[in-house]
Amino acid sequence: MIPQAIIDKIFDTAPIEEVVGEYVSLKRAGANYKGLCPFHDDKNASMSVSPSKGIFKCFSCGQGGNIFQFIMEHEGVSYPLAIKHLADKYNIPIEEGQIDVNELKEEARVKEGVYACLEFARKHFYERLNESQDGKVIYKPYLNERGINQQTIDKFSIGLSGTHKSHLLDEGLKNGYGAQQLFDAGLVKKISDDGGVIESNLRDTFIERIVFPIFNVSGKVLGFGGRIIKKDTKAPKYLNSPETVVYEKRKELYGLSVAKNDIRIKDQVFLVEGYMDVVSLNQSGVENVVAASGTAFTEEQARLIKRFSHNITMLFDGDVAGVNASLKHISTLLAADLNVRVALFPADEDPDSFIQKRGTAEFQGYVAEKAQNFIELIAEIKLGDNKHDPIKKAEAARSVAENIAALPDPLKRAAFINEAAALFEIPERILVDEVNKFKLDNRRQKDREVRREARVEEQHRNDGPPPDFDYVPDYGEMHTPPALLEDKKNYQEEELLKTLILYADKEFDEEQTVAQFIFKELEEDEIWPVSEDLAPIFKEAHAYLEEHKVLNELYFIRNATTSKVAAEVLSMRYTISPGWFDNFEKVVKTDEDGYKHQVVQNLNYVKLKHIEILMLENQESLKEAETEEDIKISLEVQANLQEFRKKITDQLGNVIR
Ligand SMILES: [Zn+2]
Repeated sequence: MIPQAIIDKIFDTAPIEEVVGEYVSLKRAGANYKGLCPFHDDKNASMSVSPSKGIFKCFSCGQGGNIFQFIMEHEGVSYPLAIKHLADKYNIPIEEGQIDVNELKEEARVKEGVYACLEFARKHFYERLNESQDGKVIYKPYLNERGINQQTIDKFSIGLSGTHKSHLLDEGLKNGYGAQQLFDAGLVKKISDDGGVIESNLRDTFIERIVFPIFNVSGKVLGFGGRIIKKDTKAPKYLNSPETVVYEKRKELYGLSVAKNDIRIKDQVFLVEGYMDVVSLNQSGVENVVAASGTAFTEEQARLIKRFSHNITMLFDGDVAGVNASLKHISTLLAADLNVRVALFPADEDPDSFIQKRGTAEFQGYVAEKAQNFIELIAEIKLGDNKHDPIKKAEAARSVAENIAALPDPLKRAAFINEAAALFEIPERILVDEVNKFKLDNRRQKDREVRREARVEEQHRNDGPPPDFDYVPDYGEMHTPPALLEDKKNYQEEELLKTLILYADKEFDEEQTVAQFIFKELEEDEIWPVSEDLAPIFKEAHAYLEEHKVLNELYFIRNATTSKVAAEVLSMRYTISPGWFDNFEKVVKTDEDGYKHQVVQNLNYVKLKHIEILMLENQESLKEAETEEDIKISLEVQANLQEFRKKITDQLGNVIR
């Protein structure tokens, strides 16, 4: 553990404009500084640095935080290493044992070595494609035949691997890279598992393949995807680098470093299935394209996309595999609060073949015409020509309800319920019930998994009777539902945190600050934020307030877990970028007293969410109640909850959920 005193000392000694200024040339703009953002391909000085707040924020790609965040992102290092980096730079001594320096140096050394190896390999592969005999005679003509020109080869740095099993290994060693480094970079693998990482037991990962480097968002090579072109081979058509210390597949998107600027400008991103789709569309002038490397789209990838645009359109094959893949991705994308559309291509066509055959204009026309939201897509897939078949309709509506349940934003849920009700000609009320059922199911499912694990573990210890997996707890009294404990994403709690960061030390009334008011309310109603990432933040902030009697934005800026969100909400108010004003008019407009209203409103939404979950769970336990006493308790609980709920909705006014 690094003592807070040292961290504070660094904050007080290292001005943010100096830390950032080391990497970015900054110009003064009023009270702030502006400069080209190093985290995306910036042409407009989108990065703003606030010396008074100690934060930086890019208004294009969304990167932001305090000095440590900047170093972590820029150097690709861990939090402790970022602290060490700045402590060294500003001559702030860290004593023996406070931080394991050797471990940190090791981490930095390994990562640096891996990045260097990967960059060496990229260059080497690229030169081989462009200069070697094989490249010129076989592989480049192959790419040209598939419509890939030299400009695109350069842009994506497409290359050619070696043709025998120790080509890159030999080249790497010759150029001073170690066997261990090449292995850590995923460029070579062991021949025999127990043979160790020694030259004689290693072979190239990529042999006789066209290789597509996979870059991170700021353009560093993380790994490669390799495509074989020989037909008479049992080797898989595509092969990817393994996961390494720098490459985590679930966090990366192929093509993003090239596409990010265009995505931001068009405020729209196309998601395709393969490398060739990305490359081919890009060459045809459709540049806002990325591909997920991996089968399932992940939360992390969704978050990455959100930094550039909230609007995503999937372009998938219309065959069964393509349809299933798009359905699988949809719920992840919806849960991340992205606006999702899907355009399916005719069976046997992918975006690559389509645009090559029919040209850019026709491609764009096709996408514009075919792109539909998830409700329309599901209706099309499930109903087909049987538009009036009641059983099919119910099936489709259920699948739509399941996806609506994934949406974090209550307003969007309401809007989609409305649309689905009209499309399937089903009363809204029934759809609302269905959506709520799925929400409850999801939570129960999670509860069960958690309990199952706990029980199996317990049984392991006691060797007792087999666990009762389907045990459902009943909720006699007001308390935190276990379901909420497992709710990782919590829109309402997130909003409340933002309000807290913005107004913590402002006066709420004569007796208390906003922070004091929020914590008092939470305690009185026994409703505390409980989502996995936010609950500890609230608890810590509360403890800090109790101890220091003061809580303000500085606390959130300097706290490692909150500095990023602090930069986000705080920079909105202080932005001077004109384009931004429009986007965040809502926030900027908040007048002097408006914040009190906002505090109460956000608190009420958090309470409402708790109550509704309790009500749903209570309804379930009512169904399963066996004795009259149980039924009586459940009904009483329900009545109390209803009353509480009414009190809050009255305060909230006319609320759409
Ligand atoms: Zn940026």
